[in-house]
Amino acid sequence: MAVLSLHTSPLMLPGNGDAGGMNVYVRELCSALAQTGVDTSVFVRRHDATETVVEVAPGFRVVHVRAGPPDLPKEALPAVVEEFTEGVKHWMQRHPVDVLHANYWLSGVAGHRLKHDLELPLVSTFHTLARVKAETGDPEPQRRSNAEAEVIACSDVITANSVTEVQQLARLYGADPKRIDVVAPGIDGAIFSPGPRRSARDALGIEGGPLLLFVGRIQPLKGLDVAVETLAGLVARRHDAQLLVVGGASGPQGRRELQRFEESVERHGLRDRVRTAPPQPHHLLSTYYRAADVCLVPSRSESFGLVALEAAACGVPVVASDVGGLTTLVDHGRSGFRVGGRDPVGYIDAVSAILDDPRLAESMARRGAETAARYSWSATALRLRRIFAGLSSRVLLDCTV
Ligand code: UDP
Repeated sequence: MAVLSLHTSPLMLPGNGDAGGMNVYVRELCSALAQTGVDTSVFVRRHDATETVVEVAPGFRVVHVRAGPPDLPKEALPAVVEEFTEGVKHWMQRHPVDVLHANYWLSGVAGHRLKHDLELPLVSTFHTLARVKAETGDPEPQRRSNAEAEVIACSDVITANSVTEVQQLARLYGADPKRIDVVAPGIDGAIFSPGPRRSARDALGIEGGPLLLFVGRIQPLKGLDVAVETLAGLVARRHDAQLLVVGGASGPQGRRELQRFEESVERHGLRDRVRTAPPQPHHLLSTYYRAADVCLVPSRSESFGLVALEAAACGVPVVASDVGGLTTLVDHGRSGFRVGGRDPVGYIDAVSAILDDPRLAESMARRGAETAARYSWSATALRLRRIFAGLSSRVLLDCTV
């Protein structure tokens, strides 16, 4: 299998820049696929002096393809898709593969070309979609939206992270639901599991009152502004409440968003109530989750929402926006609360309800961990394997006829 991941590498630390859930997805999925015997090469754009091929695990390697100068911002990447595609094709002519799995629209464009040139089946996973982002106030260039439509029309299978994404693909891109399969991402249960809050707090040097946690890339879409306003409203009721933010600036508006966050903390007089931590290696994050009383996920859109699932797996109630994959992951009233709209009042009420009722908090923690235990990367890999197997007996779509 060839996994295309042009803009970001599974070898990168998630939590800032262009590295987030998709990096975790590609890394964990390919490890799990390799364990089931699917030989997997992940193709990424060469962005530094790394060697061309990095063997990550038996049967799972990352191949770095030269395409443009190393330090290109994501917005400049459409110009190097062609060069990337040629590089991947050159590699595949020497190392043939049976199926292409493209992640995100840039790789989708490359995958679409390779599908026709090499007559291979194309499976596409978008992770985020331009037309969904536009609906929630995060517009993307028209070129991306058009390219997604073309890739969707010619993908033999589209995998959606959630049922909501299936509906979005059909409604906004006219995708044929028969070609869409829901393949939910997973979770590493060996890392994300409940643990004592006290020792997690000790490990992080956190004292004092209830702790709200925000984890992820800092950009407007993630709604960190709502997290700060939630804390601001909450301290009127719980003067010792605090917020911990783990992650770093991401995307063209990341730095501005970080600045807005700092200004908002200052404006609300919360400087001694808010802490920040730089992006953490995935395996250390469980300590941050376990230290928290509530995990906030106030995203404007979210195709899945790994952070919500990881928090739940660690036994932490989640208060999230009522969008995308979060509508499936957060069982409203049972593993946390989903809040409609952007008004912080809904978040403040939801967090207060959890903090004011330890029995509710405990039962949410239990139910969240039970729900999260149903997700695993090996299940994700098996589902994809079945999809690949089904492709071998199908006539491939051909948008050129
Ligand atoms: N993450 C991490 N370290 C950090 C912050 C985030 O490993 O400091 C990981 C987090 O555990 C999660 C992913 O980045 O697996 C974020 O995925 P999510 O689906 O929540 O958001 P996305 O980045 O895809 O928008």
